Amino acid sequence: MQWNMNAPSHPSERILLGPGPSPVPARVLQAMAAPTLGHLDPEYLAIMDETRERLRQVFQTSNDLTMAVSGTGSAGMEACVVNLIEPGDEAIVCINGVFGGRMKDVMERSGATVHAIEVPWGETFPEEMICKALEQHPKAKVLGIVHAETSTGAHQSLEGLSQHVHDAGALLLVDCVTSLGGLPVEIDAWGIDAAYSGTQKCLSCPPGLAPVTFSPRAVEKMNQRQSKVQSWYLDMSMLSSYWGEERVYHHTAPINMTYALREALKIVMEEGLDRRVARHRASHERLRSGLEAMGLSYIPNDSLTTLNAIRVPDGVDEAKVRRGLLEDYGIEIGAGLGPFKGKAWRIGLMGHGSTTRHVDLVLTALQQHLS
Ligand SMILES: *Cc1c(COP(=O)(O)O)cnc(C)c1O
Repeated sequence: MQWNMNAPSHPSERILLGPGPSPVPARVLQAMAAPTLGHLDPEYLAIMDETRERLRQVFQTSNDLTMAVSGTGSAGMEACVVNLIEPGDEAIVCINGVFGGRMKDVMERSGATVHAIEVPWGETFPEEMICKALEQHPKAKVLGIVHAETSTGAHQSLEGLSQHVHDAGALLLVDCVTSLGGLPVEIDAWGIDAAYSGTQKCLSCPPGLAPVTFSPRAVEKMNQRQSKVQSWYLDMSMLSSYWGEERVYHHTAPINMTYALREALKIVMEEGLDRRVARHRASHERLRSGLEAMGLSYIPNDSLTTLNAIRVPDGVDEAKVRRGLLEDYGIEIGAGLGPFKGKAWRIGLMGHGSTTRHVDLVLTALQQHLS
C-alpha cells in the first residue's frame, strides 16, 4: 500500500487566523468526545432542544423554525434557498464577492430567475440601490444579501433594509456565516426572514453544522408551495418534523457535532453577545492600528471586525509570506480569492481567535516576514 510519508500522525495545533475555520476551544473538542447517543434517544432530543434554544438567543430571534442543518455554511445557504424558492420564482441577489455569487448559483439551480445587482469587490450596497432593484423587479419573491462578505472583508449594513424588501412583497434572505457570534445579528429587530450561518467561523466550533432560522413570513411562503422542495435532504418541512414535537426520523443527525455546537453556543452565552461583539471590535482595532503603523492598508471602506482584508504591498510574494507564517509560527492566514488573488491577505479574528495575544502574534510574525 502507498501512503503519504509526509502525513502527520497527529495534526499540528495551528493558530487559525484565516477566513475560517477559527480556533476551537478545548471545551468544545472535549464535548465532541462524549459517548455517541442514538438520534432518537431522549437524552439526545433534550440536547437538540437546548441547542435550538441557544441558537435562538444567538440569532436574537423568537422564530420557531430555528435549527442546525447537517453540513457546512453552504448547506445552510442551500437549505434557505431551496425551501424559499420555487421553480419560476424571481429573486434579486446582491453580489460584491464570492458568496453573493454562490447564492446566485444556488438560486439558479433551484429554478429561479435571478436578477443580480453588483458593486465592485470590497464595496457594500447603498440602500437606494437595493430600493431601485426592488422597483425594477416587482415580481421578485426573495432578496438575498451577504452580511459579512468573507472574500473581501466588507461589512454590509442591514438595518432598515427589511422595510423596503417587505414593502415590495419579497422576503429578506441573509448570509451571516462570518457575522453570527462576532457581530450583532438581530434577526427579529432587523426583520430578516431567513438566515444561515456556519459553525466554524465566529462560533469557534469545528465545521459541520449550519444554523438556520426562518421567520413566520418565510414559513408562510414555504407552506404555500405548489411544488416539492428540490432537495430531499434539506427539506425544512421534513426536518422540522424531526426537530419539532413529532420526532420523526429523517436522517441520522451528526450527534457529536451537536454536542460541540451546544458547548460552543454555551460559551457564547457565558461571555454575552454584547461583550463578545466588543471583544471582536477591540481586537480588530488593535490589529488595524498595528498594520497601518507597518504601512499596510485595508481593502474595504467599511471593514468587518471579524475578517481583515489587507492589500499585499507591491513586490511582495504573498504566498511566501503566508508559508513563512505557517512554518515559523504555525499561523494560518488566508489568501485573496478571485480578483484579489495574489493581491490580498485575509486575517480572520473570529470567535476564540479574536484576542490581544493573537493580534500581537500575527503582527510580530508579519513584521518579521515583511522586513
Ligand atoms: C465560509 C462562508 C460560507 C460557506 O461556508 P462553508 O462552511 O465553507 O460551506 C458562506 N458564506 C460566507 C460569507 C462564508 O464566509
